[in-house]
Amino acid sequence: MYDIIVVGAGPAGLTAALYARRADKSVLVIEKETFGGQITYSPRVENYPGFSVMSGNEFAEKLIDQVTDQGAEIELDTVTGIDGKAGDFTVHGESADYKAKAVIIAAGSKHRQLGLPKENELIGEGVSYCAVCDGAFYRGKTVAVIGGGNTALQEAIALSEGCSHVYVVQNLDFLTGEERLQRDIEQKDNITVILGKVVKELLGEGSMTGIVIADNSGNTETLEVDGIFVAIGQKPENEPFKNVLDLDEWGYIVSGEDCLPKGADDGIFVAGDCRTKKIRQVTTATGDGAVAALAACRFVDEL
Ligand SMILES: Cc1cc2nc3c(=O)[nH]c(=O)nc-3n(C[C@H](O)[C@H](O)[C@H](O)COP(=O)(O)OP(=O)(O)OC[C@H]3O[C@@H](n4cnc5c(N)ncnc54)[C@H](O)[C@@H]3O)c2cc1C
Repeated sequence: MYDIIVVGAGPAGLTAALYARRADKSVLVIEKETFGGQITYSPRVENYPGFSVMSGNEFAEKLIDQVTDQGAEIELDTVTGIDGKAGDFTVHGESADYKAKAVIIAAGSKHRQLGLPKENELIGEGVSYCAVCDGAFYRGKTVAVIGGGNTALQEAIALSEGCSHVYVVQNLDFLTGEERLQRDIEQKDNITVILGKVVKELLGEGSMTGIVIADNSGNTETLEVDGIFVAIGQKPENEPFKNVLDLDEWGYIVSGEDCLPKGADDGIFVAGDCRTKKIRQVTTATGDGAVAALAACRFVDEL
């Protein structure tokens, strides 16, 4: 039995593992796909204190090295549920069951889809959710970024370096990303911002040839693009935990800054983007990781 199991190897989960190991607790981190979490999709992180610029992958690699050097174990598995009681939890994975005295849920969130026909069949053939993963495939081509928040604007700026033209298609009549990013967008000759329009249809058989966009009155227009990058927000990955704690209407785990989830048994803690909070960033995720880990260590010590 481990002292602490951490679900999710993003910045929150890895930071929790680091703090728990430094308090001499045995720690297992279970990750289902991307060691490092969402930040690995970011080509340029400029707002993590102490580092003027680094890629998300660079950050993730350093953090994973630091955590494993401290002696945390990491397992590739998808957690499907938790049961048991304080001091004796079973974390169910697709490949195995794992036992721990305390559990920290740091499952983060995922990209939202447009929900249009052909979206899934065109993934990798024109539909992408990650400019840093797929941007290079569109060098010299025309693409559209769907969305108008920070992620969409960051992706549009990154894509404009290699693509011949980048459209930013936003459903609202204004962009919601930071003003600094909006100013950067304005300075790019090969970025066109289209406001107040939604994507109605994805065109192409086998590979994307364009998208149909529509305004509020239903007037449509076709944009000939080779690919789209969907950046319309995130959805938390908390389905496996809904039987042991409370989720809000959007599926986030209800918790305050103390990282104690509402409705949960003692011994379950939460950290990072998967919980209710205003600011979802690496700094806030790592902060949560530290808070949740120290609370979990205290809990284990008092058993
Ligand atoms: C393109 C992009 C750019 C960004 N740029 C910045 C930036 O410049 N600065 C900044 O501060 N933030 C940025 N962010 C936000 C930042 O990445 C997140 O706030 C941060 O990663 C949240 O960390 P987390 O550990 O809470 O969650 P995540 O990073 O989402 O990690 C959660 C992990 O849990 C895993 N997981 C989920 N469910 C399960 C399960 N059932 N079993 C096992 N594992 C599971 C997931 O696979 C994932 O790896 C960016 C995000 C994106 C997508």
